[in-house]
Amino acid sequence: DRTERRDHAERAAPTLAVFKLASCDGCQLTLLDCEDELLALTGTVRVAHFLEASSAVRPGPYDLALVEGSITTPADAERIRAIRASARHLVTIGACATAGGIQALRDFADVDEFRRTVYARPDYIETLATSTPVSAHVDVDFELRGCPIDRRQLLEVLTAFLAGRKPDVPNHSVCFA
Ligand code: SF4
Repeated sequence: DRTERRDHAERAAPTLAVFKLASCDGCQLTLLDCEDELLALTGTVRVAHFLEASSAVRPGPYDLALVEGSITTPADAERIRAIRASARHLVTIGACATAGGIQALRDFADVDEFRRTVYARPDYIETLATSTPVSAHVDVDFELRGCPIDRRQLLEVLTAFLAGRKPDVPNHSVCFA
């Protein structure tokens, strides 16, 4: 019947997961800002994991994982390997995920000194001495640059991966306009 057909269509739809590492959430907000377009995509994609927008957390595997943020802790270095293993395609979004972000300024400083200065209990803080892009840890299928990312480019990337084609987005970080 109609309910069964709808359930089957939902199960057959490609799954999208969104993950956050060290970041300000601005790139995920760009995704939320695509609400109308995402609603239009709802029939063709199933949002399986997106903590910023929903409490629904379904386990992988996922067809497409979007990752915001850089790797700054040992736990996130582990986590990105698990995310990679669960995703058919992995796309990084924003300068944090593609280049390490503003938090990569730590790469040129003494992180232990920051830890002692900022936190009352520095021994509670587990952090790496560097902030690195996701691609330094796992294979990435596409990097969407920007801080924050561009809404139209994000929609192009989503549409392209769901259609099984290469995104028509310039893969450089310099604005030539
Ligand atoms: Fe925020 Fe910029 Fe990082 Fe996106 S790239 S999460 S907007 S700091």
